[in-house]
Amino acid sequence: MLKKSSTSGTGFKAGSKCLKIRAHHLCCIQGFQGYGYSPIFVTNLKAVISEIKAFPSRLLKLVSECDVICASCPSKRECTAKDSIISGRIRSMDLVVMEKLKIKEGTIMEAYKAFSLVNSQLANASDITEVCGTCKWRQKCIWCTCRKKAKIMKEKL
Ligand code: SF4
Ligand code: SF4
Repeated sequence: MLKKSSTSGTGFKAGSKCLKIRAHHLCCIQGFQGYGYSPIFVTNLKAVISEIKAFPSRLLKLVSECDVICASCPSKRECTAKDSIISGRIRSMDLVVMEKLKIKEGTIMEAYKAFSLVNSQLANASDITEVCGTCKWRQKCIWCTCRKKAKIMKEKL
C-alpha cells in the first residue's frame, strides 16, 4: 500500500474504492517511462501505477473526462474547458479507445481486465495511430513505440 507522504501534494489518494481513469490512459500508463508535464504530475502518475500494480483487481471506472492522473496535470484547466480544442482532441482519444473496447462511459472493471482488453483490442499500428496520433510523448512512450516492452508491464499486473 502507498504511504500517504508519497502522494502528498498530488491529486491521487490511495485506498479509494474505484479509480477514475480516462480510457486512453490505459495505454499511457503502460507506456510511461518517467517523463511528464511536471514533477508533481510524474509523482502522481507513479503513485497511480504503483497502486494498480499492488492491487491488480482494483476497480477502474473508465471515463472520457479528467481523472486521477489529470488531477495533478498543469494542463488540467485546458483539458477540462468544455469547448477548448485540446479538451475535444483528448476526449476523442478516450472515445476511440472506448469504441474499440466496446465499452460505455463509466464502465467499471478490474484493472488487470482493462489492461488485457486494451492490449488485445488495440493491437495494430493503425489502432495506435488513431489513439496516439497527435500525442507529444510518442517518442518517449513504450506503449506507442515498443509494445513488447509495454506488455511486460501488463504481465506484471
Ligand atoms: S503516445 Fe501518448 S497517448 Fe499514446 S499511449 Fe503514449 S502517452 Fe498515451
Ligand atoms: S494533458 Fe489533459 S488528459 Fe493528459 S493528463 Fe493532462 S489534463 Fe489529463
